[in-house]
Amino acid sequence: MEALLNKVQEAGYDITTVAGDDAIEMWSEIRVKVATEPHEQALCYVISSEHQLSLHRLSQSITELNQALRLLTNAGPNHAERSDLVLMTKSTLSERYLTSGDYSRALQEFISITQYAIEHGDIDTYASAILGMGKLCESFGDANRALRYYQKIDHVDHALSSRSLRLHYKLHKLSCYVALNKLTAAREILKECEELSILVSDKLLTGQIMLYQSQLYRQQGRQTDALRILANIPYAVGNIRSNWFACKSRIEQARCLIPDRPALANYLLDNAKRRLQHHSKPELKIQLYRAYSEIYAEQGLFKESLFYEKLGFETESNLISQIPIAELGANQLRRLARFDLQLKLILSEMENRELKETTESQKHAVAQLQQDVFTDPLTKLKNRRWMESCLKDLLIHETEFAFLVVDIDHFKSINDELSHLAGDKAIVNVSAQILQLFNQATHHCVRFGGEEFLVIIEKVDLDQALSQAEELRNNIEQFDWREVLGSRRLTVSIGVTLHRLGENTQRTFYRADKALYRAKANGRNQVCSE
Ligand code: GH3
Ligand code: MG
Ligand code: MG
Repeated sequence: MEALLNKVQEAGYDITTVAGDDAIEMWSEIRVKVATEPHEQALCYVISSEHQLSLHRLSQSITELNQALRLLTNAGPNHAERSDLVLMTKSTLSERYLTSGDYSRALQEFISITQYAIEHGDIDTYASAILGMGKLCESFGDANRALRYYQKIDHVDHALSSRSLRLHYKLHKLSCYVALNKLTAAREILKECEELSILVSDKLLTGQIMLYQSQLYRQQGRQTDALRILANIPYAVGNIRSNWFACKSRIEQARCLIPDRPALANYLLDNAKRRLQHHSKPELKIQLYRAYSEIYAEQGLFKESLFYEKLGFETESNLISQIPIAELGANQLRRLARFDLQLKLILSEMENRELKETTESQKHAVAQLQQDVFTDPLTKLKNRRWMESCLKDLLIHETEFAFLVVDIDHFKSINDELSHLAGDKAIVNVSAQILQLFNQATHHCVRFGGEEFLVIIEKVDLDQALSQAEELRNNIEQFDWREVLGSRRLTVSIGVTLHRLGENTQRTFYRADKALYRAKANGRNQVCSE
């Protein structure tokens, strides 16, 4: 990607200022005149297809993605960058098929993605294709079967690197348990989702959790609690996903109101119906018609009720006729089962790879790399690239170590209320506090992401790690923030875990992450261990 962008810049194209048809034309010209490698040409198609989508030309967008795939599969031997692009293109393509209602092609794409992802050891993409299959089952109302797909993801849960993917699939499990009225299982997974959402911080996903919580309340006859939750859902305005979500929560609100206030319920459904006109999601229409039918039945208006009952039934039969239900059945699950061993192999390889990769020659090459390749320019802390080589070193020497994952609390609001510049200054000051406390050769301080830091401490036990984390937390709380933040205070939450001999570091991260979200969930400004 970077190589192509450099070429594009050298050729004098300014891709940042164009949009719509102009962008499509520009990328087509770039494809012909600038891109020389097949994967570069494919990339041009992929980018152009995004612009086609923004102009609502779904079928054109699909055609271009297919053209990209053709180029990629006809090109010579595999290399990592190209297989990443293949997987990304295929995932996008399957989404487009879903949006266009072409469920069979979407499923074919999912099946092919699972195979390809396994071959390339890409667990995240594998899981998102399985998630896609489960969603297809959900859309024709078979929550049991959907769950069997989601349970396949359970086996690789700890190896998923995307938190938002993890939350996504758990939300779908939750939705199935709610649909099946399995209250205990639902409550358990709801709690997991709540913990995860604190770290993912996506308003829409948080809203979905609240929606399911309210459905659970309604199913237990606790309408008032359900409505209270629904009233508190935050809305992210202006995007398609949120419009879809707003409809869903209005329908849910209406269902809570049906017994006591049918007129208000009716009003909410009319509102959802208006929004739905711009949206073709049949699952949602079915829910809407069912709710209408319920309301009218409640009011004794059986003719109207029957009308909506029929409409719902028609929409549902229509949907079912388009979904390749048979192909999602036991055979497909069996086909996936043949990957189980391969998956186990990939997972265990992941555990070993870090060790194997640290050959002498690589260590030599690493030593030759410039210091600044490993340094974060804003904070002068080490960066992730450095962290990876440091971890390999620790593993190969079987050095024991602890992870402290440090995350600034409510940082987004600092950016929003003061400025991004103030936010940057806060990050620099937190980094300075970290460096001041952890200044020995056995301490390694990393800027892990935006406002997230990782401190690796060698040869400590859990109590020592916890007390050092607590000292850091306290130093940051006591720091005089007035110059940077005015009257606002700043605190951090810290998750602490010890690395266990023989495990890969992804697992250690996974546990540290869990500890961090406990600290967040318990009210922030605190240290938690796994
Ligand atoms: P929580 O207490 O749950 O951690 O809430 P939060 O607001 O800190 O967490 P969230 O993950 O929602 O927000 C992190 C924000 O950090 C989002 C992003 O805009 C901001 N950010 C990330 N990197 C930088 C950076 O380098 N500089 C500045 N100023 N902001 C950044
Ligand atoms: Mg934060
Ligand atoms: Mg964060």
